[in-house]
Order: sequence, then C-alpha cells, then structure tokens
Amino acid sequence: MYIPVIGLEIHAELLTKSKVFCNCSAEFGGDQNSRCCPVCTGMPGTLPVINQTAVEYAVKAGFALNCEINKFSVFDRKNYFYPDLPKAYQISQLNYPLCINGNVPIEVEVNGEKIQKNIRINRIHLEEDAGKLIHDDYNGVSLADYNRCGIPLIEIVTEPDIRSAEEARAFVEKVSLLLQYAGVCDCKMEQGSLRCDVNISIMKPTDSQFGTRAEIKNLNSLKSIVRAIEYEIKRQSKILDGGGKVIQETRRFNDNHGDTKSMRSKEDAHDYRYFPEPDIVQVNFTDEDLAEIRAKLPELPEKRFERYTKEYGLSEADAKILISQKTISDFFNGALEVYNNPKSISSFIIVELLRRVNLGEVSMDNLPFSSKDFAVLVQMADEEKVSKNDAKTILRFMVETGKKPEEIAKENGFLITNDTGKVEEVIENVLSANKAIVEQWLSGEQKVFGFLMGQCTKELKGVCTPKVVKDSLEAKLNSMK
Ligand code: ADP
Ligand code: MG
Ligand code: ZN
Repeated sequence: MYIPVIGLEIHAELLTKSKVFCNCSAEFGGDQNSRCCPVCTGMPGTLPVINQTAVEYAVKAGFALNCEINKFSVFDRKNYFYPDLPKAYQISQLNYPLCINGNVPIEVEVNGEKIQKNIRINRIHLEEDAGKLIHDDYNGVSLADYNRCGIPLIEIVTEPDIRSAEEARAFVEKVSLLLQYAGVCDCKMEQGSLRCDVNISIMKPTDSQFGTRAEIKNLNSLKSIVRAIEYEIKRQSKILDGGGKVIQETRRFNDNHGDTKSMRSKEDAHDYRYFPEPDIVQVNFTDEDLAEIRAKLPELPEKRFERYTKEYGLSEADAKILISQKTISDFFNGALEVYNNPKSISSFIIVELLRRVNLGEVSMDNLPFSSKDFAVLVQMADEEKVSKNDAKTILRFMVETGKKPEEIAKENGFLITNDTGKVEEVIENVLSANKAIVEQWLSGEQKVFGFLMGQCTKELKGVCTPKVVKDSLEAKLNSMK
C-alpha cells in the first residue's frame, strides 16, 4: 500500500484588458496572430512595460488564497528555446515572487464522512503566457499563434500536501472559485484560462522521505487531473512493486488513452539559466498600496456563506449551492436588491431556475433576463398576483423569450384580479348547476368537495388563487348546512 504525495502548479490567466508587458488585447480568441506587436513577439530593441493591473490582480489572488504579499518583488528571465515563445525567454519570477505562504481550506468526502483540510500554498508568481502551437500532422508542419503570448499568468504552487485525486480535484475547484470571486480569472479550463501541472510521487507509510516524483504537464479539465493522478499512482506502484525506481521526469497525459507518456527528463532551475530581468522595474509596495488593493477585493465565498446562513437564515445546504458559482451568488444578491426576501428568492433560484439550467435550457452566464426581473416574478407569486404554478410557467417563458414577467402574466391571463364579486358569482352558479352533488356533501359525503372545487377553479383561473376558491367554497357550503 502506497501513499500518494501530490503538489500542484496551477496556471491562471488574469482578466486584464491588455497583455502584461504591452498594449495588445488580452482577450481570448481572435484571428491568428492578430493580437501581437513587436514587444510580445520579442523583436530586438523593444522594451516591455509592466501592466499595473496585472500586478494588482496577482496580489488579489494572493489575498484570496491567504498568502503573505512580498513588499519587494523581482522579475527574472527564464531562458528556454521553443517556438511558442519568440523571445526565447519567459519573463517570470524566481526568488522574489509576489505572494508566498498561503493556504486554502478544502473539504473532501472519505467513506461518506466530510473531512476538512488545509492545502498550503508555497508561492504565487506573475509571468507571461506563451503562444500556442498548432501541430498540423497532415502537412507535416507546426503553426504558431502568438495571440496568447504575453497574456498575464499567475502560477500558484502548492506544497506537496495533497494525498488523493479527490483532494486534488477539490483543491482546483476551490482555487477556481476563489479566483472567480476575486475577479481575477474566469477559470475556464476548456478555454485554457486555468491549467494545471500535477507533481506526484508515492511512498510507503513507513518511509521517512517522499518518493521521486513525475510531473504531468498541462491538464485542462478536472476529469483529466483525476484520471492522470489515478493512472500515475498505478504506474508508479507497479514500478516499485517490481523492485524498480521511479525516475524524475516530465510526462504528458493522453486523454484518449487515459495514460501518461514520458516527454523529457525533468529540468532543474539551473537548466533555465534564470537571471534578473533588466528591463522591468522591481516592485516595491508600501503598506498603503497593499491596503488599497485589499480594499478592492470583492466579497469572497466564505463571507457570503456566512451572511446567507447567519443573516438571512438560509440552510447551509442552500447557501452552499448559491455560492458554488459566482454567477449564481451575484444573481441572488442582485435579486435581493429589488425584493428583499432571501428565503423566497433562494428557493425559487434553487428549485426553479437551476432546474432550467440543469436541463440545459439556459446558462447562468447568459440569462436572457435580469436578476431584477426574476425578483419581480418571485414577488408577484408571493403576493399572490399570480399562482405559484403559473409563476413556474412564467419563468419558463422568460427563459425562452427574455420578456418581462408582468408582460407574460398579462398576455397569458395569469394575473389574479381578486375580484370577490366574481368569486361569489361563480360559486353560486356551480352549486346551483350541481344540486345533487351539493346534497351529497350536505349529507356527509366529503369526498365530493374535490369535484365542486375543480369546477370552481376552472372558472376562476386568473381571478383568485386555489386557496381563495377553497376557503370561499367551504364557507358557502357550511352556510347551507
Ligand atoms: P520545480 O521547481 O522543479 O518545479 P518545485 O520545488 O517548485 O519544483 O515543486 C513543484 C511542485 O512539486 C510543488 O507543487 C511541490 O509541492 C511538488 N513536489 C515537490 N516534491 C514532491 C514530491 N516528492 N512528490 C510530489 N510532489 C512534489
Ligand atoms: Mg515548478
Ligand atoms: Zn503585444
């Protein structure tokens, strides 16, 4: 039996408008090589200038991950020769990163029991992303797209505190949530704005030292992180069981085969001939600078969870769902601004809206209506201006058409007029048209009530709620006893 020892390096692209050392757009996509300039394509004689927002975002990430922020920070050149980086070096940070010594609490389930654990963060540094190479095997060429070159990237390095694929997954999910709340990264793994390298070794419980690790590069989904770790545990166990030795190397995960293959032997820091980047000024923060950045940090998920449970009295389970995505939590907060009834809004989001989202009808990222419209709908239902059932239908129409709830209610006759004269009249008519059944009820056959009720409700749709129908009908019948 072996214990897995895992450390992660997470690369997260920062959501700045422009790149980290030039003015090119940092937006995802674009025609190939349309977002490049002499600086980010490494032309001789160009001078990089640091994007202050990128530095600020990296520090915000540090705060979100409970790091210490280094007041003094230096950029270095990491030299390597590969066509994804035309300068032949990456501007990064080696000895004086922006943030150090953080920690991230995670929760995992082991044998049905929830276990809390802290994963320590060794460092967060700021660097530039490399370009993208597209290998065209058919024509036997590789094409280079430098749009991504120079997009600000933070590298988050953990201590080797992770002990299972599940912990790794929980950690990446948590970091991605925190970065989204901090507003510094959109964490879209499928678009590559969050990528992960997994360092993994295994050891016997009796070993006093960690084993030799393999590094699996560039995993771009939670699923492949989990699969790669599980595969590596098996691979390394087999080697050790057979009396062999794991060699320190960099490996690539193949999604189609679910296995990892050796890419190269692992390089050491000295292989990169790091030296201080002479073109970028060193960063010097004052206490005031850091306090200012901290003050700009949006409310993080834990804080919101506390507010939702303590202040609003929501259940922990519901609060957890609401904070599980920033878009959901923001939507909830927005709706409360219009209709301050946390329990009603929360339950309509969780039961009705998220149902539509889970059915794939709509996504929280691009809802065709605002949280304000949603709040109006929930309030209409609470105030019995529409029935609870019709409110669900209205929401479905909102998802389909983006129309305002009042408009949909009006167009479809869902609005309850609460015309008491009309209620009396309908009940009167139904009772006199069903004299025999009324007699049955009066002689004690209570089950016929449902039939009478059904007749009245049908006529009174849009006039009052079923509850009003029931109460009025009961009162009327009782008066006939
Ligand atoms: P490098 O500079 O070679 O990338 P680092 O010391 O920065 O190495 O470590 C990179 C990652 O590897 C870190 O997340 C660290 O926690 C992890 N790590 C270090 N040693 C081991 C080990 N023996 N087994 C598993 N992970 C490890
Ligand atoms: Mg490293
Ligand atoms: Zn540029």
